Amino acid sequence: MVKPFVPELVYIEPRALEYPLGRELKEKFEKMGIEIRETTSHNQVRNLPGENDFQKYRIAKSTLVVGVRKTLKFDTSKPSAEYAIPLATGCMGHCHYCYLQTTMGSKPYIRTYVNVEEVFDAAEQYMKERAPEETRFEASCTSDIVGIDHLTHSLKRAIEYFGESEHGRLRFVTKFAHVDHLLDAKHNGRTRFRFSMNADYVIKYLEPGTSRLDDRIEAAAKVAKAGYPLGFIIAPIYLYEDWKEGYRILFEKLQDKLPDYATKDLTFELIQHRFTKPAKRVIQKNYPMTKLEMDEEKRKYKWGKYGIGKYVYQKDEQEEMKNVLGGYINQYFPESSLEYFT
Ligand code: SF4
Repeated sequence: MVKPFVPELVYIEPRALEYPLGRELKEKFEKMGIEIRETTSHNQVRNLPGENDFQKYRIAKSTLVVGVRKTLKFDTSKPSAEYAIPLATGCMGHCHYCYLQTTMGSKPYIRTYVNVEEVFDAAEQYMKERAPEETRFEASCTSDIVGIDHLTHSLKRAIEYFGESEHGRLRFVTKFAHVDHLLDAKHNGRTRFRFSMNADYVIKYLEPGTSRLDDRIEAAAKVAKAGYPLGFIIAPIYLYEDWKEGYRILFEKLQDKLPDYATKDLTFELIQHRFTKPAKRVIQKNYPMTKLEMDEEKRKYKWGKYGIGKYVYQKDEQEEMKNVLGGYINQYFPESSLEYFT
């Protein structure tokens, strides 16, 4: 069982101490005996330890920066929600394919924002703009928020905040099984709790540092029992030698462990593996021994934004993936819905 994340090093912005959560975290980390340093800005943490890039990257991924979120303009978050709600940035997981490696570039450390009330106020404005339409907020666009929430409880507050809202809904996805503190949150059914699931092979070889398959399934069952609407993102769908059987076993296990009532309003999102050329370079640098196959010749090129295209699977492979996984969804969870395949 992967243990709940404990940072090895903590940086705090002086301004963060003006907020109750900032002070609370400082006290907590002091009591835990973790080294605390000061940083003027969470955007520019200098003097991170480590003798080379490889070491620096690993140390950064176990470093937590406690800061104040200045930009309260939310990014859009298609196709799963209207907006991304910023509660944290970065992740302690080591998934080889993770997009954060390129989007966060030189700042792989984890940032948590203590001005949660201000973030909620901003969310309120976005909801007002769209009311009476509902507005969905995605809390895991730039981090695996569940993975650090046992320390901060900001996600828990967000769940309860949207639980009381009239027009807002919250959703997030995680690869971590440390969900116990979220089970008694007053969600009022307005938060969709999603788990990122995959064939055991993918979790084992490509997702180090995250909770293992059986632990995630167990956590999903607990979350279902706590009455949350549940969802699964199967991502990245990855074609390895025995993928059909690997994914079948995944569905079989899910069906076996989930309570029946949780399967009525269950959602699936399917995302095939893709990579860009810059991402491939970063992945090979950070995880030189990776088993992740990234052969441009075998893939289909898809034009992308800002001139950076991505390599997805060939058309016929995509069809097969859709058919095989779609087939499992129908077979094992006939009452669920497939939100998208991309
Ligand atoms: S758990 Fe998610 S955010 Fe964290 S490293 Fe893995 S893919 Fe990235």
